[in-house]
Amino acid sequence: MAIDKRIGMADLGAQYRQIKEQVDTVMAEIMNSGWFVMGKNVTGLEADLAHICDAKYGISCASGTDAIEIALAAAGVGAGDEVITSPFTFVATAESIVRLGAVPVFADINKETFLIEPATVEPLITSKTKAIMPVDLYGQMTDRIGFQKLANKYGLLHIIDGAQAIMCQQDGHGIALNCDVATLSFFPTKNLGAFGDGGMMVTNNDAIADVAKRLRVHGTGSTTYYYDIPGYCSRLDEIQAAVLRVKLPLMTSWTEARRRHADIYNDTLGAVDLVTPKVVEGNYHTYHQYTVTTPRREELKSYLQQNGVDSAVYYPHPLHLQKAYASMGLGEGSYPCSEQAANEVLSLPVHPQLTDDDIKTVATLIQRFF
Ligand SMILES: *Cc1c(COP(=O)(O)O)cnc(C)c1O
Repeated sequence: MAIDKRIGMADLGAQYRQIKEQVDTVMAEIMNSGWFVMGKNVTGLEADLAHICDAKYGISCASGTDAIEIALAAAGVGAGDEVITSPFTFVATAESIVRLGAVPVFADINKETFLIEPATVEPLITSKTKAIMPVDLYGQMTDRIGFQKLANKYGLLHIIDGAQAIMCQQDGHGIALNCDVATLSFFPTKNLGAFGDGGMMVTNNDAIADVAKRLRVHGTGSTTYYYDIPGYCSRLDEIQAAVLRVKLPLMTSWTEARRRHADIYNDTLGAVDLVTPKVVEGNYHTYHQYTVTTPRREELKSYLQQNGVDSAVYYPHPLHLQKAYASMGLGEGSYPCSEQAANEVLSLPVHPQLTDDDIKTVATLIQRFF
């Protein structure tokens, strides 16, 4: 098949060209105003995203990783506390726990959804458990009601790594409902990406919001240059917030494009010998990634590559097997579903700047491969 352009995992240049005029205008406004950090664009973005996520508060910060760490700290997670989470996620999930002196405890994923579940988490709860932190991986929400019931039963915090979950819904509810706090990432390749790093916490909890707001600016109290607690330097820039606000009105159509692309794959790949993503009933999947599973992953990946199509493995090595977490003493075989996923997952191009024909091209190539 003759392919005149590469089909990639993201096309941020094309995305920029779609919104160039508006972006250039707001950039110039900010540079002329001389107000660069935490101003009216940041406040506006926080309000808009809180609304989208069904939260009372949006508290921005410098990255998705910081959002997790500050959310955990603001909720009261500290040294020695156990936090139950997934080993099949981006490293920042566990890293944020460790940075607070707390201890990640891994629960294996459901191999069809790639998400952790209450039934697998409950047996791991000990007297040291302080929080459960599920990851809404690939753009699909974890069982909010189920985990919230579990958190209530044992008096635990329920904190969501929602870095991949902007615009997600479960039974019509946004990501901040039925949990204590959820976090977002604005890393450029996320569904809502900045022109650099950025993150946010969204919550309905007054106390967590209050502490989080202080922590991100050095633990400042109500009086400038007086500090109540040791904090972080983790603020969002006006330029980033302004870019995100230009993109925000497009999020509905961009998300619908991802979902339409996913439908095309589902329709075309149904008869092919690989596993397409499972959507849990009630979930509005936003397809941050469209991820298939096949034991022939490496072969398929190079076949696509040779035919001008990129694909990616999120993530090739589960966290319990990483050198950084070797001291946990968890060997191969500890989390079979996560390990199998790491060996077999392949994410296909799904981003909204691709056309339906691009997706059909990829799907046809995959049919031909099998
Ligand atoms: C992207 C991501 C993060 C980290 O966000 P950054 O903005 O890159 O710091 C954390 N968790 C998950 C699941 C992510 O995908």
